[in-house]
Amino acid sequence: MSGAPTPLLTALLIDGELVQGQGFVEPILNPATGEVLTQIAEASSEQVEAAILAAHRAFAGWSRTTPQQRSILLLGIADAIEKQADYLARLESLNCGKPLHLARQDDLSATVDVFRFFAGAVRCQTGQLSGEYLPGYTSMVRRDPIGVVASIAPWNYPLMMAAWKIAPALAAGNTLVFKPSEHTPLSILALAPVLKDLLPRGVINILCGGGDGVGSHLVSHPKVRMVSLTGDIVTGQKILQAAAKTLKRTHLELGGKAPVIVCNDADLQAVVEGVRAYGYYNAGQDCTAACRIYAQAGIHDTLVAELGAAVGSLRFAGKRDADNELGPLISTRQRDRVASFVERALGQPHIERITGAAVHSGAGFYYQPTLLAGCKQNDEIVQREVFGPVVTVTRFDELEQAVDWANDSEYGLASSVWTQNLDKAMQVAARLQYGCTWINSHFMLVSEMPHGGLKRSGYGKDLSSDSLQDYSVVRHIMARHGQHL
Ligand code: NAD
Repeated sequence: MSGAPTPLLTALLIDGELVQGQGFVEPILNPATGEVLTQIAEASSEQVEAAILAAHRAFAGWSRTTPQQRSILLLGIADAIEKQADYLARLESLNCGKPLHLARQDDLSATVDVFRFFAGAVRCQTGQLSGEYLPGYTSMVRRDPIGVVASIAPWNYPLMMAAWKIAPALAAGNTLVFKPSEHTPLSILALAPVLKDLLPRGVINILCGGGDGVGSHLVSHPKVRMVSLTGDIVTGQKILQAAAKTLKRTHLELGGKAPVIVCNDADLQAVVEGVRAYGYYNAGQDCTAACRIYAQAGIHDTLVAELGAAVGSLRFAGKRDADNELGPLISTRQRDRVASFVERALGQPHIERITGAAVHSGAGFYYQPTLLAGCKQNDEIVQREVFGPVVTVTRFDELEQAVDWANDSEYGLASSVWTQNLDKAMQVAARLQYGCTWINSHFMLVSEMPHGGLKRSGYGKDLSSDSLQDYSVVRHIMARHGQHL
């Protein structure tokens, strides 16, 4: 173990107790160095069962707490995270390899804000009118929690993804079994003692383990009423199939391949700075990454030249944390996957390497920030999610063509359009089939606004009061009172 802060907590949280897993033992790596940080035992099948039953028992009490009571506890969690933010950021940085200053400044502040947002949002929900739709009967609508939610998270922003899943589910009155990615359990395990102390027994349970074992056990269990996944499309498909057997609700946040439409009249510097930052943030391991540029003919050549220079200046794998702008890929497998996408792309005679396109030679799972130009709409590198620091540029002449190409994708999560003509921007934004479209920007998320996809990017909404709706059900209560007065 090297450079690790102490303590590195490895206990799972089951029925209000911190216990070591009794399943397979897995090494947890630091992707920036390849070193083993610690070993964590996954939950055994019996422990998965115990966690689900604990959440099931806790539901009776937790679902009857008031929004105010839940809000106070969520605010307590936010405060506790804020107090330990340096420690949690350090864990996040070690376990994901991301620069510490970015983990501290971005991931941790967003995580705290999400708990605070849902603490407020759950207290100011509004709904349909009650009324007499049948003479002598009053109808009203309730919004109630669903039951036990199994929340399954990815590895790219471990603590922030946990917050996106845990805060709205708890705020809405559900109980939870949360499973982090098998690659990145350290930050949520560090938070387990806080959650244990703040929340009633069984309201949240945290289990480590892989998708095929612990994950699929959760998804197939009859007492789990909803599964919330952020992950790959293929994982989403498997979960849907398994969930169909017990007719569970599902909340799916899957991959993305964000188009970035750059018109001739765009502010070139803003585009270069925007794509340099948000095409490569988190080493491109972001489902909203600005990775698929469509550049209009008049701006194309200058953009490719200036962006190439800007991307070539991105700093990574340096000794001083504050100098680094991006981290490594999460694993050698992911790095090799990225490398093979780029290799196949460069096998096409029309695709040109502008910068990058190689595995970094030092320690860690780094891949050079890469810009490829001359890409065509049907190329694999334009169609498929790479989930690495790779951005493509495709030239277009007419805006109509760019909008069609942008929409010609299995993904539908995020998109952007860059132009100084607001009329044009608004028309393009209205036609893009994506959960989010930024105008002259990319990547910005706020707790108040919904985040989630269309098409194969899934259909669950994270953040915002829309997420509270996803984690609750509408019920009709009808009271018969006659018409005697
Ligand atoms: P993944 O699908 O491999 O794993 C996600 C989680 O699902 C992990 O916890 C994994 O253990 C679990 N899992 C895998 N198979 C399972 C199964 N059969 N049953 C139950 N659980 C299972 O994804 P990943 O590699 O961790 O993350 C990368 C993917 O996540 C990318 O495709 C990315 O676009 C997507 N992502 C989407 C968003 C979004 O907001 N839409 C955010 C982050 C990541």
